[in-house]
Amino acid sequence: MMSEFIGYRCSLCQTEYSPSQVTYTCPKDGGNLDVVLDYANIRQRYEINDITTRTDPSLWRYLPLLPVTDPGGESTPLRAAGWTPVYKAGRLAESLGIRNLWIKDEGRNPTASYKDRASAVVVARALEIGAEVTVTASTGNAGAALAGMAAAVGHKSVIFAPKTAPQAKIAQLLVFGARVILVDGNYDAAFDLSLQAAEEFGWYCRNTGYNPFTVEGKKTGAYEIWETVMMEIPKKYAPLTIFVSVGDGNIISGLHKGFKDLQLLGWLDQMPRLFGIQSDRSAAVANAFQAGGEDIQPVQATTIADSISVDLPRDGVRAVRAARETGGEYLTVTDDEIIAAIPEIGQIGIFAEPAGSAAYAGMKKAVSQGKIDADDPVLVLNTGNGLKDVRAALKSITEAPVIEPTLPALKRLLGI
Ligand SMILES: *Cc1c(COP(=O)(O)O)cnc(C)c1O
Ligand SMILES: [Zn+2]
Repeated sequence: MMSEFIGYRCSLCQTEYSPSQVTYTCPKDGGNLDVVLDYANIRQRYEINDITTRTDPSLWRYLPLLPVTDPGGESTPLRAAGWTPVYKAGRLAESLGIRNLWIKDEGRNPTASYKDRASAVVVARALEIGAEVTVTASTGNAGAALAGMAAAVGHKSVIFAPKTAPQAKIAQLLVFGARVILVDGNYDAAFDLSLQAAEEFGWYCRNTGYNPFTVEGKKTGAYEIWETVMMEIPKKYAPLTIFVSVGDGNIISGLHKGFKDLQLLGWLDQMPRLFGIQSDRSAAVANAFQAGGEDIQPVQATTIADSISVDLPRDGVRAVRAARETGGEYLTVTDDEIIAAIPEIGQIGIFAEPAGSAAYAGMKKAVSQGKIDADDPVLVLNTGNGLKDVRAALKSITEAPVIEPTLPALKRLLGI
Protein backbone atom coordinates (compact mmCIF):
# COMPACT_ATOMS: atom_id res chain seq x y z
CA MET A 1 0.00 0.00 0.00
CA MET A 2 1.22 3.50 -0.89
CA SER A 3 1.81 6.06 1.84
CA GLU A 4 -0.06 9.38 1.93
CA PHE A 5 3.17 11.33 1.38
CA ILE A 6 2.48 13.98 -1.28
CA GLY A 7 5.31 16.50 -0.90
CA TYR A 8 7.33 18.92 1.19
CA ARG A 9 6.77 22.52 2.29
CA CYS A 10 9.63 24.78 3.37
CA SER A 11 9.18 26.03 6.92
CA LEU A 12 10.77 29.38 5.98
CA CYS A 13 9.57 30.36 2.48
CA GLN A 14 6.58 27.98 2.19
CA THR A 15 7.71 26.74 -1.25
CA GLU A 16 6.24 23.32 -1.99
CA TYR A 17 8.20 20.48 -3.54
CA SER A 18 7.19 17.10 -4.86
CA PRO A 19 8.61 14.00 -3.11
CA SER A 20 11.14 13.42 -5.90
CA GLN A 21 12.24 17.06 -6.26
CA VAL A 22 14.33 17.47 -3.09
CA THR A 23 15.89 15.24 -0.43
CA TYR A 24 16.94 17.34 2.56
CA THR A 25 16.48 21.10 3.05
CA CYS A 26 15.00 23.91 0.93
CA PRO A 27 17.28 24.62 -2.05
CA LYS A 28 16.37 28.34 -1.85
CA ASP A 29 17.09 29.18 1.77
CA GLY A 30 18.22 26.01 3.56
CA GLY A 31 14.98 25.95 5.58
CA ASN A 32 13.79 22.72 7.17
CA LEU A 33 11.17 20.95 5.08
CA ASP A 34 7.86 19.78 6.52
CA VAL A 35 6.49 16.57 5.06
CA VAL A 36 3.00 17.11 3.63
CA LEU A 37 0.50 14.28 3.78
CA ASP A 38 -2.77 13.93 1.90
CA TYR A 39 -4.88 14.79 4.94
CA ALA A 40 -8.17 14.83 3.03
CA ASN A 41 -7.53 11.32 1.83
CA ILE A 42 -6.49 10.06 5.25
CA ARG A 43 -9.62 11.56 6.75
CA GLN A 44 -11.74 9.84 4.16
CA ARG A 45 -10.12 6.47 4.74
CA TYR A 46 -9.72 6.44 8.54
CA GLU A 47 -11.54 7.35 11.71
CA ILE A 48 -9.88 7.75 15.12
CA ASN A 49 -10.96 4.22 16.06
CA ASP A 50 -9.23 2.72 13.05
CA ILE A 51 -5.97 3.97 14.55
CA THR A 52 -6.57 3.45 18.26
CA THR A 53 -7.81 -0.13 17.85
CA ARG A 54 -4.68 -1.25 16.01
CA THR A 55 -2.86 -3.84 18.08
CA ASP A 56 0.74 -3.13 17.01
CA PRO A 57 2.60 -2.06 20.20
CA SER A 58 5.09 0.17 18.36
CA LEU A 59 5.14 3.41 16.39
CA TRP A 60 4.12 1.38 13.33
CA ARG A 61 0.53 1.41 14.60
CA TYR A 62 0.51 4.92 13.06
CA LEU A 63 1.61 3.71 9.60
CA PRO A 64 -1.42 5.38 7.92
CA LEU A 65 -0.03 8.76 9.11
CA LEU A 66 3.61 8.08 8.18
CA PRO A 67 5.28 9.08 4.86
CA VAL A 68 6.81 5.62 4.36
CA THR A 69 5.56 2.21 3.39
CA ASP A 70 5.68 -0.70 5.80
CA PRO A 71 9.36 -1.71 6.16
CA GLY A 72 8.24 -5.32 6.69
CA GLY A 73 10.14 -7.79 8.80
CA GLU A 74 8.51 -9.45 11.75
CA SER A 75 10.08 -9.15 15.16
CA THR A 76 13.01 -6.76 14.92
CA PRO A 77 14.17 -3.74 16.94
CA LEU A 78 13.06 -1.58 14.01
CA ARG A 79 9.52 -2.89 14.41
CA ALA A 80 9.70 -2.36 18.19
CA ALA A 81 10.50 1.36 18.28
CA GLY A 82 8.00 3.55 20.10
CA TRP A 83 4.89 2.73 22.20
CA THR A 84 6.91 3.46 25.33
CA PRO A 85 5.37 3.22 28.79
CA VAL A 86 3.79 6.25 30.42
CA TYR A 87 3.52 6.35 34.21
CA LYS A 88 1.35 8.39 36.55
CA ALA A 89 3.90 9.90 38.96
CA GLY A 90 1.62 10.43 41.95
CA ARG A 91 4.25 10.75 44.68
CA LEU A 92 6.42 13.15 42.70
CA ALA A 93 3.35 15.23 41.83
CA GLU A 94 2.36 15.43 45.47
CA SER A 95 5.82 16.62 46.49
CA LEU A 96 5.51 19.44 43.94
CA GLY A 97 1.97 20.42 44.89
CA ILE A 98 0.37 19.36 41.60
CA ARG A 99 -2.15 16.59 40.94
CA ASN A 100 -1.76 15.24 37.44
CA LEU A 101 1.78 14.31 36.45
CA TRP A 102 2.82 11.70 33.91
CA ILE A 103 6.31 10.63 32.86
CA LYS A 104 6.76 8.93 29.50
CA ASP A 105 9.88 6.82 29.52
CA GLU A 106 11.58 6.92 26.15
CA GLY A 107 14.55 5.18 27.69
CA ARG A 108 12.55 2.02 27.01
CA ASN A 109 13.06 2.22 23.26
CA PRO A 110 15.18 -0.52 21.61
CA THR A 111 18.44 1.47 21.79
CA ALA A 112 17.21 3.40 24.86
CA SER A 113 16.40 6.89 23.60
CA TYR A 114 13.76 8.92 21.75
CA LYS A 115 16.05 8.87 18.70
CA ASP A 116 14.86 5.37 17.79
CA ARG A 117 11.63 6.90 16.54
CA ALA A 118 13.49 9.05 14.02
CA SER A 119 15.96 6.37 12.99
CA ALA A 120 13.26 3.72 12.48
CA VAL A 121 11.43 5.94 10.00
CA VAL A 122 14.63 7.13 8.29
CA VAL A 123 15.81 3.53 7.82
CA ALA A 124 12.39 2.64 6.39
CA ARG A 125 12.85 5.54 3.96
CA ALA A 126 16.40 4.42 3.12
CA LEU A 127 15.10 0.95 2.23
CA GLU A 128 12.34 2.48 0.13
CA ILE A 129 14.69 4.64 -1.94
CA GLY A 130 17.26 1.85 -2.25
CA ALA A 131 20.05 3.63 -0.34
CA GLU A 132 23.03 1.40 0.38
CA VAL A 133 24.54 3.34 3.27
CA THR A 134 23.02 5.78 5.75
CA VAL A 135 25.22 8.24 7.62
CA THR A 136 24.59 10.49 10.59
CA ALA A 137 26.35 12.90 12.89
CA SER A 138 25.41 12.37 16.49
CA THR A 139 26.19 13.31 20.07
CA GLY A 140 25.67 9.57 20.65
CA ASN A 141 22.00 8.68 20.76
CA ALA A 142 21.05 9.45 17.17
CA GLY A 143 24.01 7.34 16.09
CA ALA A 144 23.15 4.47 18.43
CA ALA A 145 19.59 4.59 17.12
CA LEU A 146 20.64 4.61 13.47
CA ALA A 147 23.23 1.88 14.06
CA GLY A 148 20.65 -0.27 15.88
CA MET A 149 17.80 0.23 13.42
CA ALA A 150 20.15 -0.35 10.48
CA ALA A 151 21.54 -3.51 12.08
CA ALA A 152 17.98 -4.74 12.61
CA VAL A 153 17.43 -4.90 8.85
CA GLY A 154 20.99 -5.54 7.64
CA HIS A 155 21.49 -1.97 6.36
CA LYS A 156 24.92 -0.26 6.47
CA SER A 157 25.45 2.78 8.69
CA VAL A 158 28.27 5.28 9.24
CA ILE A 159 28.36 7.38 12.40
CA PHE A 160 30.33 10.55 13.14
CA ALA A 161 30.41 11.45 16.84
CA PRO A 162 32.55 13.63 19.10
CA LYS A 163 35.34 11.60 20.70
CA THR A 164 34.03 12.88 24.06
CA ALA A 165 30.67 11.06 23.70
CA PRO A 166 29.80 8.91 26.76
CA GLN A 167 31.40 5.47 26.54
CA ALA A 168 28.16 3.51 26.68
CA LYS A 169 26.90 5.30 23.58
CA ILE A 170 30.15 4.63 21.70
CA ALA A 171 29.94 0.99 22.80
CA GLN A 172 26.43 0.75 21.36
CA LEU A 173 27.60 2.09 17.99
CA LEU A 174 30.40 -0.45 17.80
CA VAL A 175 28.37 -3.40 19.05
CA PHE A 176 25.71 -2.71 16.41
CA GLY A 177 28.43 -2.97 13.77
CA ALA A 178 28.28 0.59 12.44
CA ARG A 179 31.32 2.19 10.82
CA VAL A 180 32.19 4.56 13.66
CA ILE A 181 34.33 7.62 13.18
CA LEU A 182 35.08 9.75 16.24
CA VAL A 183 36.05 13.33 15.53
CA ASP A 184 38.47 15.43 17.49
CA GLY A 185 35.87 18.17 17.83
CA ASN A 186 32.32 18.74 18.98
CA TYR A 187 28.93 17.65 17.59
CA ASP A 188 28.79 20.64 15.27
CA ALA A 189 32.12 19.65 13.73
CA ALA A 190 30.87 16.06 13.30
CA PHE A 191 27.73 17.46 11.66
CA ASP A 192 29.64 19.46 9.06
CA LEU A 193 31.95 16.57 8.23
CA SER A 194 29.05 14.11 7.86
CA LEU A 195 27.37 16.42 5.32
CA GLN A 196 30.57 16.59 3.28
CA ALA A 197 30.98 12.82 3.45
CA ALA A 198 27.37 12.18 2.41
CA GLU A 199 27.80 14.46 -0.58
CA GLU A 200 31.20 13.02 -1.54
CA PHE A 201 30.28 9.33 -1.26
CA GLY A 202 26.58 9.43 -2.12
CA TRP A 203 25.44 8.21 1.30
CA TYR A 204 21.91 8.84 2.52
CA CYS A 205 22.12 11.34 5.39
CA ARG A 206 19.97 11.03 8.50
CA ASN A 207 21.22 14.21 10.15
CA THR A 208 18.86 15.77 12.67
CA GLY A 209 17.31 19.03 11.48
CA TYR A 210 18.39 18.21 7.92
CA ASN A 211 16.60 15.02 6.87
CA PRO A 212 12.82 15.74 6.85
CA PHE A 213 11.97 12.18 7.92
CA THR A 214 13.40 12.43 11.44
CA VAL A 215 10.52 14.68 12.49
CA GLU A 216 8.10 12.19 10.95
CA GLY A 217 9.43 9.53 13.30
CA LYS A 218 9.55 11.85 16.28
CA LYS A 219 5.96 13.00 15.76
CA THR A 220 4.78 9.53 16.78
CA GLY A 221 5.51 10.45 20.41
CA ALA A 222 2.73 13.05 20.08
CA TYR A 223 0.32 10.44 18.70
CA GLU A 224 1.06 8.19 21.67
CA ILE A 225 0.56 11.00 24.19
CA TRP A 226 -2.74 11.81 22.45
CA GLU A 227 -3.86 8.21 22.47
CA THR A 228 -2.71 7.12 25.93
CA VAL A 229 -2.90 10.29 28.05
CA MET A 230 -4.92 13.09 26.45
CA MET A 231 -7.94 10.93 25.72
CA GLU A 232 -8.11 10.06 29.44
CA ILE A 233 -8.03 13.66 30.73
CA PRO A 234 -11.47 15.01 31.68
CA LYS A 235 -12.54 18.03 29.60
CA LYS A 236 -12.75 20.34 32.62
CA TYR A 237 -8.94 20.52 32.81
CA ALA A 238 -6.61 22.93 31.01
CA PRO A 239 -4.72 21.54 28.00
CA LEU A 240 -1.89 19.12 28.72
CA THR A 241 1.49 20.81 29.26
CA ILE A 242 4.42 18.78 27.91
CA PHE A 243 8.04 19.28 29.01
CA VAL A 244 10.81 18.15 26.70
CA SER A 245 14.51 18.92 26.57
CA VAL A 246 15.85 20.65 23.48
CA GLY A 247 19.20 20.39 21.71
CA ASP A 248 18.80 20.67 17.92
CA GLY A 249 15.09 21.21 18.47
CA ASN A 250 13.95 18.24 16.40
CA ILE A 251 12.03 16.36 19.12
CA ILE A 252 9.94 19.38 20.10
CA SER A 253 9.35 20.12 16.40
CA GLY A 254 8.33 16.51 15.91
CA LEU A 255 5.85 16.66 18.78
CA HIS A 256 4.40 19.85 17.32
CA LYS A 257 4.11 18.23 13.87
CA GLY A 258 2.33 15.24 15.36
CA PHE A 259 -0.25 17.38 17.11
CA LYS A 260 -0.70 19.56 14.00
CA ASP A 261 -1.33 16.40 11.94
CA LEU A 262 -4.05 15.37 14.40
CA GLN A 263 -5.53 18.86 14.26
CA LEU A 264 -5.61 18.82 10.44
CA LEU A 265 -7.41 15.49 10.63
CA GLY A 266 -9.97 16.99 13.03
CA TRP A 267 -8.92 14.48 15.71
CA LEU A 268 -7.49 16.86 18.32
CA ASP A 269 -9.68 18.62 20.91
CA GLN A 270 -7.00 20.86 22.41
CA MET A 271 -3.45 21.63 21.36
CA PRO A 272 -1.10 20.81 24.27
CA ARG A 273 1.32 23.48 25.48
CA LEU A 274 4.91 22.58 24.58
CA PHE A 275 7.63 23.70 27.00
CA GLY A 276 11.19 23.40 25.69
CA ILE A 277 13.91 22.96 28.30
CA GLN A 278 17.55 23.78 27.62
CA SER A 279 20.66 23.86 29.73
CA ASP A 280 21.77 27.43 30.41
CA ARG A 281 25.07 26.23 28.94
CA SER A 282 23.48 25.32 25.61
CA ALA A 283 20.59 27.71 25.21
CA ALA A 284 20.53 28.91 21.59
CA VAL A 285 16.84 28.11 21.06
CA ALA A 286 15.77 29.52 24.43
CA ASN A 287 17.71 32.70 23.64
CA ALA A 288 15.87 33.14 20.34
CA PHE A 289 12.53 32.46 22.01
CA GLN A 290 13.21 34.99 24.75
CA ALA A 291 14.34 37.60 22.21
CA GLY A 292 10.90 37.25 20.62
CA GLY A 293 12.10 36.30 17.15
CA GLU A 294 13.30 33.27 15.20
CA ASP A 295 16.91 34.26 14.75
CA ILE A 296 19.05 31.38 16.01
CA GLN A 297 22.47 32.60 17.12
CA PRO A 298 25.11 29.94 17.83
CA VAL A 299 26.50 29.54 21.36
CA GLN A 300 29.48 27.65 22.75
CA ALA A 301 27.76 24.72 24.38
CA THR A 302 29.40 23.15 27.43
CA THR A 303 26.58 21.36 29.30
CA ILE A 304 27.07 18.00 31.01
CA ALA A 305 23.87 16.88 29.27
CA ASP A 306 25.72 15.74 26.14
CA SER A 307 22.56 14.92 24.16
CA ILE A 308 21.45 18.55 24.26
CA SER A 309 24.89 20.11 23.94
CA VAL A 310 24.61 21.94 20.60
CA ASP A 311 26.27 25.13 19.39
CA LEU A 312 23.99 25.75 16.42
CA PRO A 313 20.60 24.02 16.67
CA ARG A 314 19.67 22.68 13.25
CA ASP A 315 15.93 22.80 13.81
CA GLY A 316 15.84 25.99 15.85
CA VAL A 317 13.17 27.91 13.95
CA ARG A 318 10.55 25.17 14.13
CA ALA A 319 11.57 24.56 17.76
CA VAL A 320 10.87 28.20 18.68
CA ARG A 321 7.51 28.00 16.91
CA ALA A 322 6.56 24.77 18.68
CA ALA A 323 6.49 26.63 22.00
CA ARG A 324 5.24 29.96 20.68
CA GLU A 325 2.33 28.56 18.66
CA THR A 326 1.09 26.32 21.48
CA GLY A 327 1.18 28.77 24.38
CA GLY A 328 4.31 27.12 25.71
CA GLU A 329 7.66 28.62 26.64
CA TYR A 330 11.38 28.00 26.87
CA LEU A 331 13.06 27.68 30.25
CA THR A 332 16.70 27.05 31.05
CA VAL A 333 18.10 24.95 33.89
CA THR A 334 21.58 24.70 35.34
CA ASP A 335 23.75 21.60 35.13
CA ASP A 336 23.41 21.26 38.92
CA GLU A 337 19.62 21.21 38.58
CA ILE A 338 19.91 18.64 35.79
CA ILE A 339 22.10 16.35 37.90
CA ALA A 340 19.93 16.78 41.02
CA ALA A 341 16.85 15.72 39.04
CA ILE A 342 18.30 12.30 38.17
CA PRO A 343 17.77 10.69 41.61
CA GLU A 344 14.45 12.53 42.02
CA ILE A 345 12.97 10.74 39.00
CA GLY A 346 14.81 7.68 40.23
CA GLN A 347 12.53 7.69 43.27
CA ILE A 348 9.75 6.21 41.13
CA GLY A 349 11.98 3.68 39.39
CA ILE A 350 12.92 5.58 36.25
CA PHE A 351 16.59 6.04 35.35
CA ALA A 352 17.15 9.14 33.19
CA GLU A 353 20.23 10.39 31.41
CA PRO A 354 20.97 14.11 32.00
CA ALA A 355 19.11 15.25 28.87
CA GLY A 356 16.06 13.41 30.20
CA SER A 357 16.26 14.73 33.73
CA ALA A 358 16.67 18.26 32.32
CA ALA A 359 13.01 18.18 31.26
CA TYR A 360 12.00 17.23 34.79
CA ALA A 361 14.16 20.02 36.26
CA GLY A 362 12.48 22.45 33.88
CA MET A 363 9.03 21.25 34.91
CA LYS A 364 9.93 21.85 38.56
CA LYS A 365 11.04 25.36 37.70
CA ALA A 366 7.79 26.05 35.84
CA VAL A 367 5.79 24.85 38.86
CA SER A 368 7.84 26.95 41.27
CA GLN A 369 7.41 30.01 39.04
CA GLY A 370 3.63 29.59 39.06
CA LYS A 371 3.40 28.68 35.37
CA ILE A 372 1.51 25.49 36.24
CA ASP A 373 -1.69 25.38 38.31
CA ALA A 374 -2.21 22.57 40.80
CA ASP A 375 -4.83 20.89 38.60
CA ASP A 376 -3.05 21.31 35.26
CA PRO A 377 -2.22 18.02 33.58
CA VAL A 378 1.54 17.78 33.02
CA LEU A 379 3.67 15.29 31.11
CA VAL A 380 7.46 15.05 31.23
CA LEU A 381 9.33 13.14 28.55
CA ASN A 382 12.35 11.23 29.77
CA THR A 383 14.12 11.14 26.43
CA GLY A 384 17.00 8.81 27.28
CA ASN A 385 18.04 5.99 29.61
CA GLY A 386 20.42 6.72 32.49
CA LEU A 387 22.52 3.65 31.71
CA LYS A 388 23.83 5.59 28.73
CA ASP A 389 25.77 7.96 30.96
CA VAL A 390 26.62 6.36 34.27
CA ARG A 391 29.34 8.88 35.06
CA ALA A 392 26.83 11.71 35.14
CA ALA A 393 24.50 9.61 37.29
CA LEU A 394 27.27 8.92 39.80
CA LYS A 395 27.68 12.68 40.26
CA SER A 396 24.07 12.85 41.45
CA ILE A 397 24.28 10.46 44.39
CA THR A 398 26.44 9.86 47.47
CA GLU A 399 28.62 6.81 47.32
CA ALA A 400 27.56 3.62 49.06
CA PRO A 401 29.51 2.67 52.21
CA VAL A 402 31.92 -0.26 52.09
CA ILE A 403 32.04 -2.41 55.24
CA GLU A 404 33.68 -5.56 56.51
CA PRO A 405 31.17 -8.37 55.70
CA THR A 406 30.12 -9.08 59.30
CA LEU A 407 26.98 -8.40 61.33
CA PRO A 408 28.81 -6.29 63.95
CA ALA A 409 30.23 -4.07 61.22
CA LEU A 410 26.73 -3.71 59.77
CA LYS A 411 25.34 -2.80 63.19
CA ARG A 412 28.00 -0.17 63.66
CA LEU A 413 27.11 1.30 60.30
CA LEU A 414 23.37 1.31 61.02
CA GLY A 415 23.98 2.62 64.52
CA ILE A 416 21.91 -0.15 66.09
C1 LIG B 1 18.69 14.19 21.04
C2 LIG B 1 18.18 14.19 22.41
C3 LIG B 1 17.47 15.26 22.95
C4 LIG B 1 17.19 16.53 22.20
O1 LIG B 1 16.56 16.36 20.97
P1 LIG B 1 16.74 17.46 19.84
O2 LIG B 1 15.94 17.00 18.72
O3 LIG B 1 18.22 17.53 19.54
O4 LIG B 1 16.26 18.75 20.43
C5 LIG B 1 17.02 15.15 24.25
N1 LIG B 1 17.27 14.06 25.00
C6 LIG B 1 17.96 13.02 24.52
C7 LIG B 1 18.22 11.86 25.42
C8 LIG B 1 18.43 13.03 23.22
O5 LIG B 1 19.14 11.99 22.77
ZN1 LIG C 1 12.60 27.79 1.63
